[in-house]
Parts: sequence; C-alpha cells; structure tokens
Amino acid sequence: MFKLLKTEGAARRGEFSCPHGTVQTPVFMNVGTQAAIKGALSAEDLEHIGTQVELSNTYHLHLRPGDEVVKKMGGLHKFMTWQGPILTDSGGFQVFSLAGLRKIKEEGVTFASHLDGHKIFMGPEESMRIQSNLGSDIAMAFDECVENPATYPYAKASCERTARWLARCKEALVKYNAEPDAVNPGQQLWGINQGATFKDLRIWHMQEIAKLDLPGYAIGGLAVGEPTEVMYDIIEAVEPYMPKDRPRYLMGVGTPSNIIESVARGVDFFDCVMPARNARHGKLFTWQGALNMKNAKYTYDDSPIDPQCDCPVCRRYSRAYIRHLFKAEEMLAMRLSVMHNLYFYNKLTEKIRDALDEGTFSEFRAEYSRKLDEKI
Ligand SMILES: [Zn+2]
Repeated sequence: MFKLLKTEGAARRGEFSCPHGTVQTPVFMNVGTQAAIKGALSAEDLEHIGTQVELSNTYHLHLRPGDEVVKKMGGLHKFMTWQGPILTDSGGFQVFSLAGLRKIKEEGVTFASHLDGHKIFMGPEESMRIQSNLGSDIAMAFDECVENPATYPYAKASCERTARWLARCKEALVKYNAEPDAVNPGQQLWGINQGATFKDLRIWHMQEIAKLDLPGYAIGGLAVGEPTEVMYDIIEAVEPYMPKDRPRYLMGVGTPSNIIESVARGVDFFDCVMPARNARHGKLFTWQGALNMKNAKYTYDDSPIDPQCDCPVCRRYSRAYIRHLFKAEEMLAMRLSVMHNLYFYNKLTEKIRDALDEGTFSEFRAEYSRKLDEKI
C-alpha cells in the first residue's frame, strides 16, 4: 500500500494507495473538521486547489449529524461528495481538548459534549464503530493525548494504556469492516505514537505499536505548546523505530517551515488547521513570506496575494480587493483567503515532492525553510 520511491537523507518520496485513490507523498491533508472546510470551501473547491486527502473529525461528526446518519447517507465520501481519500481522526484529541469533565478508565473515557453537555462514553471500540460508519479510508487509533507538560509517571501510565487501546482498536475495526453492510471494507487503521516529551517513553511506545504491523503510523501529542526544537528532537528520536515501509504522519503540524523540517526528518503525512485559521484572520502565506492582508499598505495594491501563485484567487483578484472584503467583513474575504492558503500548502508539498524527485531537497530546504515563516 506504501511504495517508497526515493530518499534524500531521511526525507522520503513515496506513493500511498487506498480504496479512493493514490496519494503522492509528502502530502498535506486539508482539514474539514465537520465534513466542510471552515471558510466555506466545498468538496468541489478542493478539486481545484490540489487537495489529495480530506480529513474529517470523528468526535464532531459523531455529535453532528451523527455517524449513523452519515452511514445511512452512504458514508462520508457520498455525503460530502468528495471522491478522493479521506482520513478520520479518532476523536481522542477532541475528547481531551474540547470536552468537559472527562473521566478516564481502562474501558475508555466518559465526557460531556461541548455542544450541550450530555454524557458520552468513548473507548477504542466506540471510536472504531464511528469511523467504520463514516467509511473513511484511514481510521486513526483512539489514544490519549496528555497535557503538556505532563509528569513522567502520568505519561508512562497513559502511553501504556494507549498501547493496550490500540490492540483493541485493531480487533474492533477488523470486526466492524467485515460486517456485510460495512461502508468501506478496505478502511485501514493507523497507530499513533504517544509519550509526551519523554524520549524513552516515545521509543518504547513506538516499538510496542510497531509489533501490531499496521499499514501506517502517526506521531501524536506534539505541537501542543512545547518548543519547536523539542518537537524536532522527539521526531528524530522516534523515526528510527518507525517501520521504513509504512507511511508516517505527524499530527497537527504546522507552519511551512515545520513541514519542510519534518520532511527532512522522515515524515510523509501532515495536517493542520493553521493555514485555514490564519487565512480567516487575513494572515496569508506567500513564497516571499507571510503577509497580513488587512494591512493599510495594500489599499491601492493591484497585484495578487502572491505574484508567484497560480491559484484560482491569485489568477483573478487583487490585494486591494481582498483587503476591502476583510474591512467590509464580507464572507468572501475568508473564502478567497482560505482557498489561497490551502492551495499554498498543497503546492508546498508538491514542490517538496518535485525537489525530492530531482534530488534537490536540501537546496529547497535551505532556500525556503526560514523564509516562508517570516513576516513581510
Ligand atoms: Zn494564490
């Protein structure tokens, strides 16, 4: 399912196949939490901005409209009319970050919905049931994402439990996807490495979950407030223990520089709400650095957001017009900005792939890694 095409140092160029298509890696997955990209982008828009994989959220879709509703409507692909690959996260991160009053036991977690406070129980089996109903191509393991900073004893107990949960996830998903009315029988489960910022726990946990021989592995629980250098150190510590012939996914990361630097450390899959969230606040990425579209200096600027960008927005609209839309609080300001930023991220990973194909990734990294995060 994963073909490693080429390497340059630790960086990898690969190809990943799943029931809804082939994905060229490294790849940035576009986050549609509630089966929609925030900023009013549709599945049709995603087809025009180079999206390879759409990511939806188990916790949110379980609450609204309900995974049973999605299943009755033919699964997530049919429901949102996106025919490419879909990854669903497990709900673990949201249970631990959004939901109120949670209680963790060996069986799973009892928590209050962030919408209306009603009590919900979610454990490995419930998360797999929901993801099987949604019918994504990649289902993520149900794990605990511990708070940062965490104490060593807590992080150790937590990642031991997460390892036990993963074995239950594997068993449950096989069972659900063997049912005659399974939405996507080819759905696969990826494991998630945890262990907070403790390298020995991270390595122990990675070795444990690698034994389950899953088709992909993620590094979770990073970019939760620790310094960037700590995040890179953890990736470097864990990477040698990740199976070479399986895709690696760094969850929830990050800036353009974080992506380039993590590719250089052997990561293949990324997702982050940041490009869409920044765009909604007028913070846009360009090949010269990041700019603030609300800035007065763009009042009479007839050039596109990024003269080097050939996205549908940059081909048509000026900075002056988009700045006006922000000032007038028109929804179109957000839509156009999100479209540009996601296109930029999709293009960024495309350029990384091209550089890897040509054996020039180290030059690409030297030219862009620092520059793309700077403000202009
Ligand atoms: Zn653009």
